Order: sequence, then C-alpha cells, then structure tokens
Amino acid sequence: MAVGKVYLVGAGPGDPGLMTVKAMALVKQADVIAFDRLIPVGVLEDARADCERVDVGKLPQKHRLSQDEINAVLVDRALQGKMVVRLKGGDPFVFGRGGEEALACIAAGVPFEVVPGVTSAIAVPAYAGVPVTHRGVVRAFTVVTGHDDPDRPDAEAFDYAALAAAAKLGTIVLLMGVFHLEGIARKLVANGTSGSSPALCVEWGTTPRQRSVEGTLDTIAGKVSEAGLSSPALTVIGDVVRLRGQGLEWFRP
Ligand code: SAH
Repeated sequence: MAVGKVYLVGAGPGDPGLMTVKAMALVKQADVIAFDRLIPVGVLEDARADCERVDVGKLPQKHRLSQDEINAVLVDRALQGKMVVRLKGGDPFVFGRGGEEALACIAAGVPFEVVPGVTSAIAVPAYAGVPVTHRGVVRAFTVVTGHDDPDRPDAEAFDYAALAAAAKLGTIVLLMGVFHLEGIARKLVANGTSGSSPALCVEWGTTPRQRSVEGTLDTIAGKVSEAGLSSPALTVIGDVVRLRGQGLEWFRP
C-alpha cells in the first residue's frame, strides 16, 4: 500500500478567521485529524463526516497523550496510506513540537509537509493593541517559554541575564508563563530590567473570551492572579505595551 502523508498544520491563535487558506483546505480533505485544545472552535465542522478525529489535546501539567504516543498516531495512520493532518494552535514550529513530529516522520519513512500558522506570539499582542515592534521604540522581539520553574535548582540552565539583555534590546513575549510569572518577573528585575517596565498579560487572545491585565514587571503577577487569568495566556513586556493606551486597542470582544 502506498504510504500516506502527514501535514503539520498551524491553526492560528483562536480566531477561526486567522486559519490560512491552505490549513482550511487540508482540514476539508483529511482522512485523519489529530488536534490540540488550542485550535479554533468549530473548525472541525468542515472536516469530512468520515474523517477520524483524534483529540491529542494537552492541558498544562496534565498530558493526555505523550509526545511519543502522538508521533505514533501520526506515523501509524500515514503508514496505512492515510492523509493525516496534525492541527495545532498557532504555528507548528513555535513551541508546537512540530520539529519532533517531523523527525518522527523522517525516522519512519513517512513524507510530511509543514503549513505555518499565525503564531499567538504576534497575533495575540496585536489583538490586544500591542505591536511587537514599533519604529523608534524597539527593533527586536524575543519569544520565550516560561514553562520552566525559574526557582528550580537547575534553573541556571535558563540564562535570565541574557533574557534581561534581550529586554533591553526589545520586546519580550512570554508564552506558557502564567504559572511562573511572579518568579520570571523577579528574575528579570534581579538581572537589571526595570520593575516599572510595562507588562500586559492576555488570556484566550483573538477569541470572544479574550481578557487582559496591564501592569508593570513589579505588579503584573499579582494583578494576573487577582484577575484569575490562566492558560492559555501570554505576557508582553516592554515599552510597546504603552501604545495600546493611544487607541490601538481595537478588538473588544
Ligand atoms: N504554537 C503556538 C504556541 C504553543 S505553546 C503558537 O505559535 O501560538 C502554548 C502557549 O501559547 C500558551 O501557553 C500561551 O502562552 C500561548 N497561546 C496560544 N494561544 C493563545 C491565545 N489564544 N491567547 C493567549 N495565549 C495563547
């Protein structure tokens, strides 16, 4: 039997309108769709009635399927000759583990394609009125994972001095950081970032559930826990956050 193919497809940050034309076309054709919890609501309604839907969704701290199990689903179905769409939030190669899935395909001799998506790292700030770069304000932005506990004994592995240097150069966008926001902010300040740097945390960005909390590096973690913001949320740190006060906050769900 001919081997099928795996498509590693970004579904964008939540607003179904931010799916690409290519992603939509693949969803409509797929024999199998393996999807995450962060894909836009309703997109699977466009899949074929006989399309096999596999929920590999992971909640933070509570993995439903291991990455190896997900890889096995993709590879096994493709080896059965199926057209497999691995549909995930944002972009597959921005903290999406798409690279691991591509390597698993290579190891199994399964052809694959990558369909980039609109990443939350840029689109969610945009929907909250924050351009990640702005002429005359910043010339760089850094996207970083806040997944690891900054106070873990081996947290030296993460170089907060380097992150503070990046904050000097430009905007920081912190993904997966809502649980460790207090510790990460503290580490940045300890490494020389001003505690009065503007910061904005956005939950469920680009969706009707979008909520945000604005503060400074010193205050943001307290405000976020007060407001009860939780995953999925990201935090933008830097002077670009001030721009939303000038009327850029256009999306009001
Ligand atoms: N591949 C994805 C990121 C996966 S990591 C992308 O390119 O967007 C998951 C993290 O992304 C979440 O913990 C959160 O920090 C962020 N995220 C994804 N969708 C989001 C949304 N709609 N609003 C806020 N943050 C989001």
